[in-house]
Parts: sequence; structure tokens; C-alpha cells
Amino acid sequence: MSAEGEIGAELQVILGSLKARVLRSGERGHPLPFSYRGDIAGAAKIMAQAAHFPEREKAVCRPFSLDDVRSDMGDCRRCPLCSLRRNLVFGEGNPQAELVFVGEAPGGDEDREGRPFVGRAGQLLTRIINAMGLKRKDVYICNILKCRPPENRNPEPAEIAACEPFLIRQLQAITPRVICALGAFAAKTLLKKGDVSITALRGRFHSYEGIKVMPTFHPAYLLRNPAAKKLVWEDVQMVMKELNSEQKTGSKGK
Ligand code: URA
Repeated sequence: MSAEGEIGAELQVILGSLKARVLRSGERGHPLPFSYRGDIAGAAKIMAQAAHFPEREKAVCRPFSLDDVRSDMGDCRRCPLCSLRRNLVFGEGNPQAELVFVGEAPGGDEDREGRPFVGRAGQLLTRIINAMGLKRKDVYICNILKCRPPENRNPEPAEIAACEPFLIRQLQAITPRVICALGAFAAKTLLKKGDVSITALRGRFHSYEGIKVMPTFHPAYLLRNPAAKKLVWEDVQMVMKELNSEQKTGSKGK
């Protein structure tokens, strides 16, 4: 394809995405989605990131859903983790969630069940969600990587490169108001802050493509360091305040 053709195709994808978002917002009774309001350049950037997908034609001129993203992922063989997994752990919860939790990667329990955060750390996350006055089904829970790294080692750059486009599209499909990044790995990957510690990042909102991001400690870290629960509670209280203040003004409700 010529350079002009590439640009034309890219513009079609961007227009399709914008149209999809306007349609979805209309369904929710709002003129434009919060996360892309006034941020056309941001929308263009993430669509450009997704544009190398072979299935990108599917995104043109119609909304895409989490089910679309899941079916595009298929029986994923894009990185070597596929040969080790029992189940791909895509994510679960409310497809229109206002709050998305992003963790690192499935562990053994998650790999067995095909569901995110179901082991000990997951049970603690469930308690945190409940303490926020929410249920797991109210929020969406997923990970940077969809397959378990051996021995729960840290994800490698090639694995992230293969998997991150699907997280980007999950977040595009959901368009949450707030993302809670669980642990250093999720925070650094989302915010592209390779050299900053979770201690330095947590406790205040950052931005991911116009969506507010609250980094906090990973529940697995809390199991080893219960004293840090107090700090996580401070972080999630800020998240609750943010969600409640938006609800009160009614400006960004879904
Ligand atoms: N840790 C994660 O980061 N994700 C899970 O799904 C489970 C444990």
C-alpha cells in the first residue's frame, strides 16, 4: 500500500473509532466519552498503536466490544508463554465499568481457572473492592499479560509488546473513568515510567490517554507487607472520591 493509502486507512480507523465512541456515549446519554473529550490527538495515537492489527478493518465504522477484542485474541500464539499456559486469562467484570483494575500477569490459580485475581492476592483484592462499596461484577479486572510467566517471573519486554495492544483495546472498549494500576509493573507499563518506583508513583492520579490512573501497591505485596494496607486504603479512597464527585456533577456518567 502507498504512503497515502496507509494514511487514508489510518484515518478511516481513527474516524471509525471516534464514531464508535460517539455511538456508545449516545447509548449512555452523553455527548462524548470523558476520556477522549477534547483529546482527539490521544485517540488518534492509540488507534495508531492498534492499527497494525490484521483485524483492524473490523474496527472501522462500528463500535468494538470486549467480546470483539477477546475473539481477535483467539487462541493467542503471539509469544512463547502460549506453550506454557493452561488458560488464557483475558479479564472479567463489567464491560462498562467506571473502574478498571490492571494487575501484572496471571499466577498459578488464575492460569488454572482462566480468571484474573482468584488466588490469595485476588481474595485480598476482592476485599479491597468490597471495602470500596463495590462488587467484583461492578468493576473490570485484567492484567498486562494474559498468560502466566513461568515461576511467576516478571514479564519480558517481548511478551509485553505482544500482549499490550489487547490491553489498550480492552481499555478503549470499556472507556473507564479511573484505572487502578496494581503494583510497580502495571503502573510502569501503563504510564511508561520505567525508572520510577511504585512508592513514588502511588498516592496521586496520573493520566493514561486522558483516563485517570491511580497506581497502588499490588495485593501480593500487601500479603507480605500488611503495614502498607493503610496506604492502599488512602489510594482507593481517592479513587472513590473521584468516582463519586463525577457522579454528583453528572458530567461524565455512564
Ligand atoms: N497477580 C496479578 O498481577 N494478576 C493476577 O491475575 C493474579 C495475581
